[in-house]
Amino acid sequence: MAIKKRKKRIKIRYEGVKFLTYCFFGLFLILFILINSIKIYNDYQYQKTDEYKIQTMGYSLDEAKDLVKILDDDIREFLLTNPKEDIYYNIINEKYFLKKNYLKYIDYQKTHQSLDLRTIVALVNTHASDGWYNNTYKTDLTKNNLILVNKFYQLEEDYQRDDLVSIPLQYSYSGNKAASEVVEKYIEMHKKVKEELGVTLMVNSSYRPYSDQEEIYKQFKGKGQEYADSYAARPSFSEHQTGLAIDITSITNPTSTAFKNSQEYEWLKENCHKYGFILRYPDGKETITGYSTESWHFRYVGEEVATKIKNENITFDEYYAYYIE
Ligand SMILES: [Zn+2]
Repeated sequence: MAIKKRKKRIKIRYEGVKFLTYCFFGLFLILFILINSIKIYNDYQYQKTDEYKIQTMGYSLDEAKDLVKILDDDIREFLLTNPKEDIYYNIINEKYFLKKNYLKYIDYQKTHQSLDLRTIVALVNTHASDGWYNNTYKTDLTKNNLILVNKFYQLEEDYQRDDLVSIPLQYSYSGNKAASEVVEKYIEMHKKVKEELGVTLMVNSSYRPYSDQEEIYKQFKGKGQEYADSYAARPSFSEHQTGLAIDITSITNPTSTAFKNSQEYEWLKENCHKYGFILRYPDGKETITGYSTESWHFRYVGEEVATKIKNENITFDEYYAYYIE
């Protein structure tokens, strides 16, 4: 009797194990199919993403991830129809890269392969790549002390600030006016130079109305348009009309050559930002500013912006394109 019962118990136990095993394999199979289906579905979905499509053009996963961040319809079309070239990715890592100019950088580089990427970005951002005076825009006057006037941004013929004041004669040759804040800061700077170097700075020229600039440009134009454009602004394209620019010299070194070699010029280059000024047309930036170096021409932008421009070693044109516009 006891043996029979035991046999029955063993049989039940065996059936139970068998059932559990089937269940286990069944579950495993379902899970396996499920996981694979999800994977296939995900792969299928991933292949529809820009990140995947960009990789098929030769970019690494990391590069594709970065490129996805700058995509718009035009850039997407470009990247998916042109096999990878180094510049297509490298350009986006340039410090002053602007997404809106992506295709312009690529275009410009094709015809200017000797230029480095930083220069290409600078020239395109500032419109310098368009050629001087080729495309012109109205200066945005709401930017106050940060208005941009160069070979692309112009003022109205009758534009004149309403806070122009005369620069007292101990700081300037006669008849010079500038925005009141500019005069105030220039005088502070003037006093500091006098105190530290014993040198007297003088303003040679500052605010100039349209008509005066027209006269100056005409004189330069006697030597040809290219010469004139390199040394003088066309009327309404002159920073002097803003009332924010001053041409500085000193009593000790009144000529431009002497001034350029003077200690006061060195001092100004090093310290003028503390008073809100920048050297507007520095050495080595001619292709961006469109002007030959002018050791005398200083522009007021306020201390914060002047400091940033000095620290980053950029021109106001680049600053404007990247930080303001
Ligand atoms: Zn000037």
